[in-house]
Amino acid sequence: MDAGPDEKLVQVKGLKKYYPLQRGMFSPLSGTGKEKYLKAVDGVDLSIGAGEIVGLAGESGCGKTTTGMTILHLYEPTAGQVFFEGRELDRKSAGALRQFRRKAQIIFQDPFGSLNPRFTVKRTVMEPLIIHGIGHTEAERLERVRFALELAELVPPDQFLNRFPHELSGGQRQRVAIARAIVLEPKFIVADEPVSMLDVSIRAGILHLLQFYADELKMGILYISHDLSTMRHICKRVGIMYLGNVVEIGPKDSILDYPHHPYAQALISAVPIVEAGFTRQPLSIKGEISDAIDIPEGCRFSPRCPFAMERCLENRPELRAVGLGVQVACHRY
Ligand code: SF4
Repeated sequence: MDAGPDEKLVQVKGLKKYYPLQRGMFSPLSGTGKEKYLKAVDGVDLSIGAGEIVGLAGESGCGKTTTGMTILHLYEPTAGQVFFEGRELDRKSAGALRQFRRKAQIIFQDPFGSLNPRFTVKRTVMEPLIIHGIGHTEAERLERVRFALELAELVPPDQFLNRFPHELSGGQRQRVAIARAIVLEPKFIVADEPVSMLDVSIRAGILHLLQFYADELKMGILYISHDLSTMRHICKRVGIMYLGNVVEIGPKDSILDYPHHPYAQALISAVPIVEAGFTRQPLSIKGEISDAIDIPEGCRFSPRCPFAMERCLENRPELRAVGLGVQVACHRY
């Protein structure tokens, strides 16, 4: 199917995920009566093309994982639109959601917690096929399972089919989780910190797999991580999130080498550079990320920004193009 006029596989507009806060016992007496919300995702715009890996970075609590889960509708969005292959996803339609979930999968961070310890590899990878009614016979499903294991480089697959998670290494478990995600032949994958719990020696193999899926199988991948060095390896574009919003997004070299937004500058300047002759002025910022309940009125980064101006306290900056495919949400540009 055509991916739509802008050739984007997934497009997200104004995505929000709010959690209502429980009122305390005395709050009806002392409060204003207004509901309070934790605004984990607060108006995210994002797009991912077929065969493209887009990185989403930011410090803990910025909302990047919730963004991935909400795009997949594993968390119900509070507001906003998700377009898949050029069509808006109708979240009221159970059939449309089921179709979307077949084509959009997730790889979780924790290969230990994401696998059922009582399921063999065969059962783990076959389960999505059963849930989605794919394959007429057990033998047909088994062929698909073998193929998925091969694509996850668990070879020969027959050596793994009857093993349990405790009989596998951490890297092999993550490959099983990957096989479970790709057995449905998805077009879009959210990879949520897929290598952060693995030994450094096996991270490269998992990252190469993701690269292969994007390059050869034309999957679109949203790669969520706080590790900017892995983003440099595999991502085509990178977005920086702060307090529920994307504050800068663009080609990875532009973002990682010449960031515009003060928060992006601070985040990236904290990463040591190993290339000879390349120096970067460190930018220090004060304080910690605000909580997602009382978000500042204007720019949400203003309490920590060394460049904050009066207008930053009143007007919220929107993402706008600053050239070379980069968009920044900052009044300085
Ligand atoms: Fe700093 Fe103002 Fe830019 Fe926000 S809009 S990042 S406060 S300069």
